[in-house]
Amino acid sequence: MTSKNNLLKKNFIVETINLTKKYGDITAVNNLNLQVEEGTVFGLLGPNGAGKTTTILMLLGLTEPSSGQAFVAGYDSTRNPIQVKSIVGYLPDNVGFYEEMTGIENLLYTAALNGIPKNQAKIRIEQALERVGLKDTGKRRVGEYSRGMRQRLGIADVLVKDPKLIIMDEPTLGIDPEGIHDLLNLIKDLAHQDGRTILISSHLLHQIQKICDKVGIFVEGKLMASGTIDELQHQLAGGSDHVEIELKTVPFDDGLLKICQKINGVLNYQWSEDYLLLQCEQDVREELSKKLYENNYLPLHLQLRGISLDSIYLRYFQKEEGYGGGFS
Ligand code: ATP
Repeated sequence: MTSKNNLLKKNFIVETINLTKKYGDITAVNNLNLQVEEGTVFGLLGPNGAGKTTTILMLLGLTEPSSGQAFVAGYDSTRNPIQVKSIVGYLPDNVGFYEEMTGIENLLYTAALNGIPKNQAKIRIEQALERVGLKDTGKRRVGEYSRGMRQRLGIADVLVKDPKLIIMDEPTLGIDPEGIHDLLNLIKDLAHQDGRTILISSHLLHQIQKICDKVGIFVEGKLMASGTIDELQHQLAGGSDHVEIELKTVPFDDGLLKICQKINGVLNYQWSEDYLLLQCEQDVREELSKKLYENNYLPLHLQLRGISLDSIYLRYFQKEEGYGGGFS
């Protein structure tokens, strides 16, 4: 049995143990064992109805598990909801603000609700607005904000509480491409620069892939796989599939083939106009790079084939009988 101390030692800010939620005959979350390391961005990915929101509600202590446990920073979410609330900031998919009030007034209101003294709140609000790039906009009425600005204000609203963990539900929904780019960079910085942990629930693969350190693929209440994109690719290969590597170098000649053939694990090759395609037992890119360097071959392109979250998703979902949904 994992104790609270063990959880803290491993620096998992989120850990669930056999977490299960049933609504009558429906098992919304099924024996979930999830671990999220501190200071990382974790993407909880899955189609509608997969059980993402139910998981979040249990983490927040807003709904009780049918069985199993959810911990945030070592606190049991069911037994210590107040401590958990003080550590977590939650950004729902549609943040509600008072339209007639300015951004700053809205944030002051939330700060008051959270019992933050006004002087301290003002300092935190200024810092939070600056962090999300709304320093000048904070004085304008929220009714005039774009959807992207509202999301930023939502993040500022969460930051005023100074949370260690921020949970975001579909943060990029309805935002234009440029806004999405900026928002994703901001989210990444909140983790990698500021040391907060971000748990994003989403079905928007392409966007989330860019910023997540790890992802969990959730289907019908079950976590099908969890890890970095590379790890998921490895799991997908199941140890039996071969890895394909695309390689283009300067020079691009027969000498390149001789270098590749000497590397352990390279099984086969095929030339194309654009690159040399290597079939390998495992990912040999590190060894390959060294040998290329030693032999004065400059790698222009050195890439594993077919690693996209999309392909990983599709593979997992195809394994699920009866799943016929799409993602975008
Ligand atoms: P979405 O992105 O659509 O919100 P989700 O992945 O967040 O999907 P959940 O909302 O957690 O999924 O729902 C998981 C399953 O549990 C669904 O089958 C849903 O119908 C069911 N469910 C969720 N909340 C309740 C409830 N209060 N009562 C009964 N069933 C529920």
